[in-house]
Formats: sequence, structure tokens, C-alpha cells
Amino acid sequence: MKINEIFYSIQGESTLVGLPTIFVRTSGCHLRCHYCDTKYAYYEGRQMTVDEILRAIVAFPCRQVCLTGGEPLLQKESLLLLSRLCNENYRVSLETSGDISCRQVDCRVRCIIDIKTPSSGELGRFNIENLNRYENSEFKFVIGTEEDFYWSEQFVKQFCIAEKFTVLYSPSFEIMDPRWLAEKILKEKSPARLQLQLHKYIWSPSTRGV
Ligand code: SF4
Repeated sequence: MKINEIFYSIQGESTLVGLPTIFVRTSGCHLRCHYCDTKYAYYEGRQMTVDEILRAIVAFPCRQVCLTGGEPLLQKESLLLLSRLCNENYRVSLETSGDISCRQVDCRVRCIIDIKTPSSGELGRFNIENLNRYENSEFKFVIGTEEDFYWSEQFVKQFCIAEKFTVLYSPSFEIMDPRWLAEKILKEKSPARLQLQLHKYIWSPSTRGV
């Protein structure tokens, strides 16, 4: 697999926020979201076998692992790595763009699946099959504009997403005011759960490896 970085930090997103976590970041993404904060992972990285990755993970004092990117599902070995980690009794999550089906992802893995909003520049890149992964999935919308907010509300309603899954609204960092989004969620009685990218508030937003 081509791996960009492996590091130990605090989970900044999703319902797992705040948990000490080992992050495995894969290289490569086929999308180009305007707000992408991991552009360095598009190409940089080194080849590692699944066994080498597992050995690197064991060195950290932690049982929580997050496979992120880039887009991890572009590499078929990601499926094997996720299952191997589950077999080793790690608690495992996957962060994915939503454009690739998670059907083959081990059901023990918690999938945090993006649904790209209009301001991402990648609207429509969502594999609708992902709404069938009922167990162990949550859906994240990055909100950069008022249009994004109402588009997301409509999408959630149309597919009854909030009745089956956790819905996360994340303000686009330094573009969307978190307070505006918080108040909008309250005013519109949105079913979404507000999430901030906690790591960007703890460390400098451009710090890598956190
Ligand atoms: S899917 Fe994620 S890694 Fe890929 S361009 Fe969008 S934000 Fe960046």
C-alpha cells in the first residue's frame, strides 16, 4: 500500500472525537475538494506491506485506529488491513469520501462517510449504495455556505438519513463560522450533530501528524 503517514494523536472528528487514536493516512485521492486540508497526501508516500503497517501500529500505546486519506478505498489492500486490525481486536474506523462503495468494508469497522456539498466542488460524487450500510456508519457534510446547509438538510430529509444514522455537520475551517452553523442547526431544528475539527483548535491548523 502507498502510505503517507502513520501517527498517534487525538481524534478530531466524528462521534469518536477526543479519543486517542493511531492514524494511518493513505496516499492518493481521485477528488479535489476546494477545502481539502490533506493535499500533501495526493502524491507523497511510501510503499508498505500490510504486515509492515501492522508492525508500525503495534508500536503505539493505543487500541483505536483510524484509516484515513486521501481516499483509502482506492487501494484494495485497505479492505484487508481493516479486517486484520479488527481481528487483532483494535477498534477501527474508516474516513472516506463517500464516492466509493463501502459494501466490502468489514462490518466491524465504523465508517465515517462524506457526502459532498455544493461548495466542495465535488457535488454528486456520492455512491448511493453507501446508504445501505446500516450498521456502524455515520455521514458527514462539510458546510461552507448557507447553500450547503440547506442542500444538506434537503438531502438528509430526502433519504431519511437521520432516522438511521448519525448526521454530522462540520463547518468548513476558516470559511464557515461555527457559531453561525450552531445557531442555524438550532433555528432550523436540524437533526444534525455539530462537529468541529478539534485537532485544528488544539494545534495550529496546518500542523501535520496531529
Ligand atoms: S475527498 Fe478528502 S482527501 Fe480527497 S480531495 Fe476531498 S477532502 Fe481531500
